[in-house]
Amino acid sequence: MEIYKLAVLGNPIAHSLSPEIHKVFARQTGIELSYERLLVPENEFRATADRFLEEGGTGFNVTLPCKGDAYQFANQCSGSADRCKAVNTISVNSRGQTMGENTDGPGLVRDLIFNRGWKIGNQRVLVLGAGGAVRGVLWDLLRASPELIHLHNRTGSRAESVVSTLNVERNNDRLMAVDSSELSESYDLVINGTSAGLQGEVPDLPARILGPGTCCYDMVYGSSKTSFNTWCRDTANCEVADGLGMLVEQAALAFQIWFPETDSLDTAEVISSLRKNL
Ligand code: NAP
Repeated sequence: MEIYKLAVLGNPIAHSLSPEIHKVFARQTGIELSYERLLVPENEFRATADRFLEEGGTGFNVTLPCKGDAYQFANQCSGSADRCKAVNTISVNSRGQTMGENTDGPGLVRDLIFNRGWKIGNQRVLVLGAGGAVRGVLWDLLRASPELIHLHNRTGSRAESVVSTLNVERNNDRLMAVDSSELSESYDLVINGTSAGLQGEVPDLPARILGPGTCCYDMVYGSSKTSFNTWCRDTANCEVADGLGMLVEQAALAFQIWFPETDSLDTAEVISSLRKNL
């Protein structure tokens, strides 16, 4: 039986949970694979990726800070990867061309809708942050037909620039950058895409954005409740979720790019087993 060779490339990489996730998908589907973590030295993404593929790699995932390099590396990119200029999954087609996809946005949407049972369609959504993570998910959130998306970032000009890129491309007036004074009351859904939680911080926000019916999602995850989710609970007793489900769902979508015949991955099993070991 063929053993497929996969990897995740990034720097740092030792913390990545991707090998554990893909090994469970392999067991669920009966596909034999190896999946390693590859540390990418500074400015050596292309060399590292080329070497991995020359040594028989089937495809690979890409994490920080290499998603932009992976976009440049791919011979062809999906429309979604083109919009955010970032790639987190590389596959190789039958003609030997590298194909770039970004599964972060669809992974987030799947976690919100299928795992959490939350709605995006016709909802008033607030997205916090304007870094790579937010750029990677905004288009897929828009495609899920919210009533509006307000984008708020500590550095307002970065939010405006993200919005103007997407709006110019698609003429989409449901997305707008807002400063603190323009934040509405009681959004239906608030998504924290900032990295503030990595330092145990919470973005500086007025309590009025939350109501008891607001669903709050933090892309950060960890062994205990994130600082943002704690703030949402304490402020308005909101329902909260962290980004572990997004991580697993984006991985499942990557697995299905490499192995398109697999359509029944049990992501719930992976999420609950990772949760126990965080
Ligand atoms: P990034 O490009 O470095 O951007 C960081 C963002 O956070 C910027 O918008 C920054 O605002 C904001 N920020 C940082 N500290 C802040 C603070 N104390 N208060 C308010 N805003 C603050 O990072 P990224 O790649 O977008 O990643 C963001 C987070 O998403 C990370 O924590 C990452 O772990 C997480 N993530 C999770 C998944 C998943 O699968 N669950 C996937 C991707 C990313 P300024 O512009 O003002 O500096």
